[in-house]
Amino acid sequence: MSKYRTNGVKRKMRHSQTLIPTLKETPADAEIRSHQLLLRAGFIRQTVSGVYSFLPLGNKVLKNVEKIVREEMEKAGAVEMLMPALQSSELWKKTGRWYKLGSELMRLHDRHDREFALGATHEEVITSLIGEEVKSYKKLPLSIYQIQTKFRDEQRPRFGLLRGREFVMKDAYTFHTSQVSLDEAYEKMFTAYKNIFSRCGLNFRAVIADSGAMGGKDTHEFMVLSEIGEDTIAYSDLSDFAANIEMAPVNVSYEESNESLQELQLVDTPGYKTMKEVSEFLQLPMEKGIKSLLFKTDDQYVMVLTRGDHEVNDIKLKNALGVTEVELATEEETQQQLLAEVGSIGPIGVQKDIRVIADHAIAAMRNSYCGANQTDKHYKNVNVERDFNISSYEDIRFIQEGDPSPDGMGTIQFAKGIEVGHIFKLGKFYAEKLGAQYLNEQGKQETMIMGCYGIGVSRTLAAIVEQFNDENGIMWPQEITPYQVHLIAVNPKNQEQLDLAEQIYEQLQQNDVSVLFDDRKERPGVKFADSDLIGLPVRITVGKKASEGIVECKLRENGEQEDLHVNDLVERIS
Ligand code: ATP
Ligand code: MG
Ligand code: MG
Ligand code: MG
Repeated sequence: MSKYRTNGVKRKMRHSQTLIPTLKETPADAEIRSHQLLLRAGFIRQTVSGVYSFLPLGNKVLKNVEKIVREEMEKAGAVEMLMPALQSSELWKKTGRWYKLGSELMRLHDRHDREFALGATHEEVITSLIGEEVKSYKKLPLSIYQIQTKFRDEQRPRFGLLRGREFVMKDAYTFHTSQVSLDEAYEKMFTAYKNIFSRCGLNFRAVIADSGAMGGKDTHEFMVLSEIGEDTIAYSDLSDFAANIEMAPVNVSYEESNESLQELQLVDTPGYKTMKEVSEFLQLPMEKGIKSLLFKTDDQYVMVLTRGDHEVNDIKLKNALGVTEVELATEEETQQQLLAEVGSIGPIGVQKDIRVIADHAIAAMRNSYCGANQTDKHYKNVNVERDFNISSYEDIRFIQEGDPSPDGMGTIQFAKGIEVGHIFKLGKFYAEKLGAQYLNEQGKQETMIMGCYGIGVSRTLAAIVEQFNDENGIMWPQEITPYQVHLIAVNPKNQEQLDLAEQIYEQLQQNDVSVLFDDRKERPGVKFADSDLIGLPVRITVGKKASEGIVECKLRENGEQEDLHVNDLVERIS
């Protein structure tokens, strides 16, 4: 049992002195195991949808995950700092994410009516800070992290800590003078992430991911395998290949239709920057209902103005097609948004419906690494025959179970995953927008190259519970458990039992074994049920044999139990 020893930390707690409000019944709105158990075992409480308090036990396990994260970050050469949650809109406008993040960004005004956001992530803050403070190549590379509360007004906060609106994230950022240096940092972070999730006891997989709103190319997600995961992973049964299915290769057999491509009149419009200018140039009235669709081929943005009423409603499909859709508006902000997103706009096309865009996107998808999220769902408000110039539905085929793996080794299997971590090579996007520049060895100004690396700390906690539970409650892995030993006096009114329990309580913590002592005057059945629910690795029960100095010792993970003399206890456990 030596693995249950706590390294050098003396911790003890009496149940009567702390707050562990366990629940007998499963709360009705808790759909999944981790949410149910964290509530029932008295670890967390919701205050409002997607917002939680961490009660004493919840706080302890959260801090234990943080401890692992800190140790591995430091090992990877990152230094800790702390950035503000309250952030000025100015920074977010510079990168365009003020507009791009939409209602997910929590926005507020101060008393002077200035706009703020509550940090959903910290690229803007850190990049502008580093841009101010680091002016020379001599200070680079630099690797910085923080563990901090993030805010995202999720459309569907649910599953307890898994998808909160306020949650704890570890976010790290690295700054470099070369791609090689970034690649090295990325490798180090990759290793750190593997160590972190292994130490959490998790069954996980690193998968190729989609960079989403972050921009950037090389990116991996760390997925905890779980039935309740919201992501689908396509992986090879023989090799290391694994991808978020959003990114799994698409198999499209497609014949380019020159006919429909001709409908798109591409007009080169150098110098035209705003929607207003463009629409004037094209003599298109700025009327409501006209949409601007941006899509990307070969790194060039093409803007298409369309009057069509066919909308691509599915956000995943939009991502898959590389289409960004923005309702045409005269407001300055919308123009800025577009500009911020695309930098400069490529050719402008005028098009009446969405077919051409779909054609383009499919052509672009043909040989690329892209795809839609689900195999069994097709698209809303899009008529396949009308909108896709393909001979049949079957022609668009996303990767499926049983397909050969793209690396030629093994076949593809699907699994569900919970995204607990995400690492990106960002490149120069943020540094360019926020002016993070340095002088190189030749005294020349250069833009920094960046990486960013997130871990959902509170989500990881929930993922751990999701993987470590049985019908009676949680079973905490060794490095996460709030206490190593649950000490129970069956009948604390019996002086002999109470004395022995008190003796063990002192003895354990003196020997660096952390212990939660259930000293309550409750029925034994209640204590045992709570103990299983809370899920500490070892339970020591002081009962009838107390007069002989004998106690029962039971392991939570497998139910193994044995009677031990109190004199052998410490040696056996530590
Ligand atoms: P998701 O796809 O689940 O919405 P994301 O891709 O938007 O997550 P990132 O921007 O990559 O999230 O943030 C880094 C990490 O923060 C994620 O890998 C995840 O572990 C965690 N995270 C993101 N959103 C939430 C949330 N609402 N609640 C808890 N953790 C979250
Ligand atoms: Mg998200
Ligand atoms: Mg994601
Ligand atoms: Mg992500």
